[in-house]
Amino acid sequence: MLNVAIADDTAETREIIRALLSPWDVCFTGIEKSDAVICYQKAVDLGKPKIIVPSESPSFRSWAEKNKLKICRRPVGELSINVNDDLILRANSARTYSTKNEVLDNEEENVVNKISDDTYMLTVDVIEEAKSIIAETLNKKNSLVYDVVTSLPVSYRMAPTGLRKLLFSRSNEPRNCFLKEHLPLDALRLMLLKATIRATGSFISSTIKNKSKKLCVISHDIDSENGLRKAMYLKIIEEKYDFKSTWFIPTNQYDLNEKIIIDLVHDCELGSHGTTHDGKLIKISKNDVKKILSKSKKILETIIDRDVISFRAPLLQHNQTLFDALRSTGYRYDSSIPTWEPKHPSTFGPHGIGTIYPTMINGICEVPITVPQDHQMLTVLDFSTKETVNKWMENKKIVDALGGIFSVSVHPDYNFTDSSGLKDYEDLINTLHGDAQNKIITCSEISSY
Ligand SMILES: [Zn+2]
Repeated sequence: MLNVAIADDTAETREIIRALLSPWDVCFTGIEKSDAVICYQKAVDLGKPKIIVPSESPSFRSWAEKNKLKICRRPVGELSINVNDDLILRANSARTYSTKNEVLDNEEENVVNKISDDTYMLTVDVIEEAKSIIAETLNKKNSLVYDVVTSLPVSYRMAPTGLRKLLFSRSNEPRNCFLKEHLPLDALRLMLLKATIRATGSFISSTIKNKSKKLCVISHDIDSENGLRKAMYLKIIEEKYDFKSTWFIPTNQYDLNEKIIIDLVHDCELGSHGTTHDGKLIKISKNDVKKILSKSKKILETIIDRDVISFRAPLLQHNQTLFDALRSTGYRYDSSIPTWEPKHPSTFGPHGIGTIYPTMINGICEVPITVPQDHQMLTVLDFSTKETVNKWMENKKIVDALGGIFSVSVHPDYNFTDSSGLKDYEDLINTLHGDAQNKIITCSEISSY
């Protein structure tokens, strides 16, 4: 466990640094007790190893002057960071910083400049970049199609299935869906981790890998009454392997068959999927969102006589208002943001938060869906259920290499409950079962790791 202090006066910055390093065994302490200090917009000199995060602040400028460093700023830079021989993560940054001086060691100048034996300077303002990735994720612009369809007085689900399929059918999206191309937030995390390791010379282990585990979260959204009827097919397979999953159910979309729901969530978790399965959640006032969240929570809690603390929005809608409302209505986990998907329902384009780790947003633990959900794989990318399982498992190797979470969402409403789909679903479960290091947990069990 490495003790790290943060030299910065703002709570927001401290929260971002904690969130960025949260996948690793780092304990945040005061400067006195620390093994290293991360300095942002404030320079300290207490004889501790230092990680300097550059910025446009006067304090960074004066630190550079004091150390006789000529800083070179370049607009828009690409950064790449090696995880291992096969895995390089990439991200774009608004600006990069490097020193024109001859630095002691240029081995990793793309990511970090060595200033002295115990002082390393990042080449990117990781704080500002992380803030902007999260802000962009929460404030994305809806597509015109989405705005028109969701403002109709009838549900988008009234449209014939064929038309809905056509809207989501393949465009020119690449079919490789390799996660490594879509993890900009994790690239920033690794930059900060690498600089901290270099400055202290200490190995910092991953909190998940530490427990020799590869965490998997299997979730199901039941969007229709037909889906509720077929959900048991998936449950039977999961029970055979002693797996538990998280079921997200909308409370006012169809008749809730309480017996089926109670059977489904036996040894599993039940989460809310809102009230009606429409796209209006990100278009209404915070008060109205709160009413929906409270109503749905209460209905589900009455059925199962247990707390419901996890939420997934219909159509994976998300914005700042949703997170504010979740917090004030007693939810603690959200799983409405994909790591990346090729055609998100609200943007009709690629969209995601770019991380495979749980991330705190506004006091809510976001558990991203780390591989594109079944609908994206089957309809947008046009894979069969068998190809989907193979692609998911390919991407899982990346998740495991990074010590992240393999979070996958399968709807009983779609092809995975057809006879061949069920066979492929069992193959997925059986493959996960075959690796003793895989640990299948529910959404809210994340907090134990
Ligand atoms: Zn849904």
